[in-house]
Amino acid sequence: MCGIVGAIAERDIVPVLIEGLRRLEYRGYDSAGVAVLDGSGHLKRVRTVGKVQILQDAIDASPTHGSIGIAHTRWATHGVPSERNAHPHISEDGLAIVHNGIIENHDELRAELRAAGYEFTSETDTEVIVNLISYFYKDGMTPIDAIQTALSHIEGTYALAILCAETPDTMYCVRHGSPLLVGFSADNRFMMVSSECYGFDHKITKYV
Ligand code: GLU
Repeated sequence: MCGIVGAIAERDIVPVLIEGLRRLEYRGYDSAGVAVLDGSGHLKRVRTVGKVQILQDAIDASPTHGSIGIAHTRWATHGVPSERNAHPHISEDGLAIVHNGIIENHDELRAELRAAGYEFTSETDTEVIVNLISYFYKDGMTPIDAIQTALSHIEGTYALAILCAETPDTMYCVRHGSPLLVGFSADNRFMMVSSECYGFDHKITKYV
């Protein structure tokens, strides 16, 4: 289990996300990634194997900006350390997810989702979560209802930060057996989530 950082602000939050990942580096990890939504609801993801600096280099080479985003350092539990297994994982309909923890019934759920037509691009337990949320979301549920319904089928531990391209001003967060903190700046105009308080920017002064 490794690190999660998420942020919403009225400015580009990519530097805050990368800085948060750097502060969580001491925990150890094999890969890192970030996903952001820009003002028009376009989802952009960058993932790399190795150090956060390699992720930063990839972002420098392919400018990535947004005022809402999620980021992750991965310690592989299901699937080798690789770019395709690095988080965030995304669904075809614009959901993006970062996950700390382990999903125990991922094999059964993956088989059911494959039978329903879903294709998987990674070996992770995490991609099962995003596709299961997508399954209910496509069926007409709101993102919150789709997340809650998907989680009622999931066994295991999870801290999740989730973006949905169709609701570009909202980050959905949930935890069960894995830590996730929510923090706000003094004026409430800047919000972060992190798997531990070291991931927060210094402007975050209130925690939930
Ligand atoms: N089980 C997930 C994976 O292997 C999450 C690992 C983590 O917590 O970093 O991708």
